[in-house]
Order: sequence, then structure tokens, then C-alpha cells
Amino acid sequence: MNLFIAGLMLVVLLIQTICVKHFRFMRKFPLFGIDWLGAALWAVLWIEIAFLFNYGDWYDWWNSPVIRQLSAAIIITLFFCVWRMMTIRHPFLEPKMWTYRYFWPLLGLITLVEAFLATEQTIPGLGNGVLQDILYNARIHPKTRIHSLSAGQKEELYHQIKSTLQEMYNLGGRSTETDLFGKSGGYIPHLSKNTAGTICPRCEDMIKKENYLGGSIYYCSGCQPIQ
Ligand SMILES: [Zn+2]
Repeated sequence: MNLFIAGLMLVVLLIQTICVKHFRFMRKFPLFGIDWLGAALWAVLWIEIAFLFNYGDWYDWWNSPVIRQLSAAIIITLFFCVWRMMTIRHPFLEPKMWTYRYFWPLLGLITLVEAFLATEQTIPGLGNGVLQDILYNARIHPKTRIHSLSAGQKEELYHQIKSTLQEMYNLGGRSTETDLFGKSGGYIPHLSKNTAGTICPRCEDMIKKENYLGGSIYYCSGCQPIQ
């Protein structure tokens, strides 16, 4: 994933380089046609924002270097998008578009649809925060490979997915999240950045936080031994 972000930033830089050169050419000869570079910049910005909202929770937001790099990339891309829009003669998105009567309602509608699609995806995928507690309850180390799990462990994992989710549901969700009325849930996660470094109530060993594949993993060094 770090490679992916590096690649993404490289693409942005490449577009920016071409963009700066192209800019002079455009001013000398104000040719008509579509501003493809502007379009590409807006597309990159859109992809970056979509990635942020889809994987933000999985990466534990700004605790992860991936999300921090991505945020920087978004700010840089946005700057170049706006700069290009303001300086060239026929930008892909005209500045007056932002004052267009239907623009903001339309953007709101797109955001709503996107949010709906994103929330729908978290159910089959299981967010990172939920997964930590499932593995803790099943006493499985987060770095364990699926194929090295015994039949008994697989059964325990299946059982814990159901019972952990049921417990979270019964208590109104995790305490780190809020509902539509701003009320936080009653489920206090066993493993989170708040419990990292504290003593495990089950075995009195230490709860640890580690960076893994660009995200954060939490586990108890005592009752979730690595296999
Ligand atoms: Zn423990």
C-alpha cells in the first residue's frame, strides 16, 4: 500500500510537471478544445478523496502514515486543480461553475450516494476496529495466516464474528463512533489506541500496538500468541 501511495504521488507530480509546461503553450496559442490535464487533475483528486473515505477507517485515519501521505497529496492536488482553473483560459471546470444554481445540491446528492455505497461496503468487509476485537475474543494473532488456522480456531473465529458483532449491536455500537443524533455507542473496544500499552484484563499481559501493512494492529502479547 505504501508503494501504491508513492505511485499515486508520482502520477500527481508527473501531471504537475506536464501542466506547468503546457501552461505556457496554452497562453501563447489560446487554442480551443478540452483541457485534458485539468480533467486528469480533477480525476486524481476525486480518486484520492474516494480512497480516503473508503480506507480511512481500515488504516485508523491519521494514525497511519498512508493516510497522512494521502492527505498531503489531496491538498497538493487540490491546490493545482484550483490554480489551473484560475489561470488558464478554458479550464476543464470553469470557476463560474461553483456559483451555478444546481451545483451544490448536485454535489450534496453525489456525496449522499457515495456515503451510502461506502457504508454498505463496511458490512461484508468488517472495519479494522471491529476486526481487532473479533481476533482478540478468538485469541488469534492478527498476523496469523488463514491457512495456518486449525479447524477449531476457524470455528471459534466464525463464532466470535457473530457474537462480537451482536454484542456491539446490542450496546448501540462502538464508543468511538456516534449515531445520527451524536450519541456515542456503549460498546467499549477491548483493543484500540486507548487500550494500547495497558494491561489485558484476561491474562494481565500487555496490549500492544504495531504498524502492519501501513495500518495499525492491536493485540495482546499474552493471549494472542503468534503462530
Ligand atoms: Zn491477554
